[in-house]
Amino acid sequence: MSDFNGLMMQANLVGGEWIAADNAQQLAVTNPATGAVLGQVPNCGEAETQRAIAAAAAAFDDYSRSDLSFRVGLLHDLHDALMDNQEPLAQLLTAEQGKPLFEARGEIAIGAAYVRWFAEEIRRTKGEIVPAPVSGRRLLVTHHPVGVVGAITPWNFPSSMLARKLGPALAAGCTLIVKPASATPYSGLAWGKLCQDVGFPAGVVNIVTGSARAIGGAIMQSSEVRKVTFTGSTEVGKTLLRQAADTVKKVSMELGGNAPFIVFDDADLDAAVAGAMIAKYRNMGQTCVCTNRFYVQAGIHDAFVERLTQATAALVVGNGAEDGVQQGPLIDIEAVEKVEALIADARAKGGQVVQGGNRHANAGTFFEPTVITGATADMRFASEEIFGPLAAVFKFDSEEDVIEAANATRFGLAAYAYTRDLGRSFRLNARLDYGLIGINTGMVATVEAPFGGVKESGMGKEGGSQGLEDYMVGKYTCLEGLGA
Ligand code: NAP
Repeated sequence: MSDFNGLMMQANLVGGEWIAADNAQQLAVTNPATGAVLGQVPNCGEAETQRAIAAAAAAFDDYSRSDLSFRVGLLHDLHDALMDNQEPLAQLLTAEQGKPLFEARGEIAIGAAYVRWFAEEIRRTKGEIVPAPVSGRRLLVTHHPVGVVGAITPWNFPSSMLARKLGPALAAGCTLIVKPASATPYSGLAWGKLCQDVGFPAGVVNIVTGSARAIGGAIMQSSEVRKVTFTGSTEVGKTLLRQAADTVKKVSMELGGNAPFIVFDDADLDAAVAGAMIAKYRNMGQTCVCTNRFYVQAGIHDAFVERLTQATAALVVGNGAEDGVQQGPLIDIEAVEKVEALIADARAKGGQVVQGGNRHANAGTFFEPTVITGATADMRFASEEIFGPLAAVFKFDSEEDVIEAANATRFGLAAYAYTRDLGRSFRLNARLDYGLIGINTGMVATVEAPFGGVKESGMGKEGGSQGLEDYMVGKYTCLEGLGA
């Protein structure tokens, strides 16, 4: 079997050493496209995590006070190492996660771009000298690394979600303990290998796989860990928020979404369908910013549905490692069962399945990309995250109604709208309760801009200059008695 250019690490990185679990237990990792076991990773727990925290804490003093040019140089080397290994990293990502190779290559590239962005941005974190109200005083505002960081990542973007955390943390001068998702640990472990290869000092990056509760518990209980950054479900995020209270950690939470995608009568139909395909079916519908609810105005509804259905039917489903495949398998059988349950619920409440609706002939966890029309607010997907290749289409009449419907959710991550009316675009900007808004585009994430949700979709930002602030603490120093 390929070892993906030596990047498929079957051990954990603690204090610069690659280790097994203390009890030698392992977790199997399977390829969701084939069901075959890809390999094993350590099933670590509390004790190994505590050692990783101790290693990160021990490395923090030197690393946080190292020359800025040293850290920036390492980050640029890490960017280059990621891009030099883009192909094996993408293949490893597809093998453990299932997404088509072209998407996996894109994920590696955007992850590398985040690293480069934060290497550049850290050089611009200027402080302030604030005018003092009395003479003889100087008021300084300065930025400092927050300390040891715990980073917990999900399975749907196991590489780029880590990039958004590791990049700013390392740029700021923090050290880390990373816990990748158990379904997709290899992408995260590969980051550890590359960080080590380019010369990050021992203990700066530590990666532990295994029991979420034990590893998460150790991270959350530790008073050495000063910040926790989490991407995953809202339910787990809430648990971590409660646990963070005991040691008053700084937190960033990138949680679930329920994105509306609004198509107004004045939309460019071709552009709206193209955007819809990206916003719905990327990663087989398993992204936090995926469209959950299509709202289409009455005048354009039938034409949009016809075009969306045609484009959905044309999607090539198969093993993401094969050329030409656009839709891989879902992550596991529970994900398939959830999509099936949502379809059954919609059917029972009057929804019409106009495309797909069944498990795919490939069996396993493949599912037919599906379109349902006649969606209504009482259907489960109106309020629950679908996380699968199911496009639910609601019809609406007025701008006022659709804004109200779009906001009628506890989530607030991404929203999309297609319109050629500039005034309406600004009204949507003001009134949609979402952290990310795409007008006439189905993909908004970019390293230069702050990514993050409102309401129960989370707090904190990743990317942009704000993504670095989340890894720093501000200090105000008042200087007096210096004769100045
Ligand atoms: P998840 O079940 O919440 O798991 C996320 C991570 O948390 C995994 O590493 C998991 O470990 C770990 N975890 C689970 N229980 C834990 C606990 N009690 N303490 C500490 N860690 C724990 O989410 P997922 O299913 O992997 O990811 C899908 C979710 O992530 C969706 O809701 C999606 O919307 C969201 N997401 C949000 C964003 C964003 O930027 N807002 C981006 C991507 C995904 P195990 O794997 O070992 O269980």
